[in-house]
Amino acid sequence: MADTSYASVLETRCLIDGAWLGEGETPVTDPSRGEVIAKVPHLGSEAATQAVDAASAALVAWGAEPVKARARILRAWHDLVMENREALAALLTAEQGKPLAEALGEIDYAASYIEYYAEEAKRILGEVIPAAAGNARAMVLRQPIGVVAVITPWNFPAAMITRKVAPALACGCSIVLKPAPETPLTALALARLAERAGVPAGVLNVVTGDAPAIGDVFLSHPDVRLVGFTGSTAVGKHLMRGAADGMKRVALELGGNAPFIVFEDANIESAVNASIAGIFGATGQSCVAGSRLYLHEDIADEFLDRMVAQAKEIKIGDPLADETQMGPLCTTGQRDNIESELAFAVEEGAKILTGGKRPDGFDGLYFEPTIVSCPSQGLRIVDTELFGPVLCVQTFKTEEEVVELANDTEHGLAAGIFTRDSARSLRMADAVRAGIVWVNTYRVVSPIAEFGGIKGSGYGRESGFQAMYDYTRPKTVWMNTSDAPMANPFVMR
Ligand code: ADP
Repeated sequence: MADTSYASVLETRCLIDGAWLGEGETPVTDPSRGEVIAKVPHLGSEAATQAVDAASAALVAWGAEPVKARARILRAWHDLVMENREALAALLTAEQGKPLAEALGEIDYAASYIEYYAEEAKRILGEVIPAAAGNARAMVLRQPIGVVAVITPWNFPAAMITRKVAPALACGCSIVLKPAPETPLTALALARLAERAGVPAGVLNVVTGDAPAIGDVFLSHPDVRLVGFTGSTAVGKHLMRGAADGMKRVALELGGNAPFIVFEDANIESAVNASIAGIFGATGQSCVAGSRLYLHEDIADEFLDRMVAQAKEIKIGDPLADETQMGPLCTTGQRDNIESELAFAVEEGAKILTGGKRPDGFDGLYFEPTIVSCPSQGLRIVDTELFGPVLCVQTFKTEEEVVELANDTEHGLAAGIFTRDSARSLRMADAVRAGIVWVNTYRVVSPIAEFGGIKGSGYGRESGFQAMYDYTRPKTVWMNTSDAPMANPFVMR
């Protein structure tokens, strides 16, 4: 039996300018039991302003640290996260509900971002460009963009933070983090460890509380230069509009509604397993959930028989129990929305093949793995990001038809394609409009490659060395390579 105590990493106060403060007001609830496990401060504009001011004051010194020193601190943070991985995972499970094995996986994954950007911190390279004409040379420096505001969701309470905070710290930015109200404890625990690792006072601040008020400070305070956000498309649009006035950069990782396409020549067993993991992993509460399954008509019946059989076998239950594969939903609002959308889908002609209801015998926010056959793309549920364990299935005849169906959505985050025909997989990878395409696999993510969407799924890329560009701004320095006076200063060259 794993150690499920998280007392060693529990922190319920906010971090502003190196001071832990605030009274416990807002309850944090374990969604598997409905019990309040802690209370965190409900801070607003004043605290958010103090946090941004502190970040601003800490910025210059942090940005001036030798890159090796920043890299060492990030590495120490990574090591502390890994040393405390069991306690962090238990805490994550307690506030989020995902099974402990998944939570451990998320902590490892979150730590891998810190490790990766500890290494990348040493490679914030600029450029030296010879002049096109005349005695000049251009140097392009990459400097920290400034104070970074980070707003994160509750589905991946650790990884969504390190994916933004680690590259920002590596680049010499200071940060104010506002975690989701449902899962603030993982954020506060990570900040505690960052502090222990040597992140100086004011460089990383965490405020919990009134989201719109804190968000407004992020948008209006002139020192915030980038708002990094993962969450709903609606809030992403609000932040983007608000950022315009202050000419701030935004990096938005928004919702998805990924197509998962299985051709008649696919390895069926592999595709079934990937589809099960793609929709029921994280209880479907993942922006890359493969929520729209498109099956070639020749294999649809066999495929669905297998899917339904496997979905029925999924073990729902106590997230702390070793055998549990799927935990509860994270919020009551999630479950209410899923239930009402499913009821409406049935009115519109959808057929529930399995699931569709709360399982018997549980108090928490559980919902059965659900597969719904949809007679057409026109059903509202097909184009709704449900963010739950609900798979919508349709059949197709041709490649052209399925490309059209896959792209018929406001989202464009991820897509899955299963076929043994490599030419077709390349054509599909080209034609499907999404930021990430998985071919004969699904949900593979890693710090080494860019992650992000197109269309309503936002823009801005996380992961990869390219993310370092978001957190730095180029400065072009022109150098005269000659002592001679300028030939004619009125002529541009
Ligand atoms: P969800 O509905 O899945 O919780 P949201 O987009 O509402 O998705 O939430 C994602 C994050 O955005 C959370 O941290 C939430 O508190 C925050 N948030 C929600 N509304 C605002 C807002 N107006 N300004 C800033 N942050 C917000």
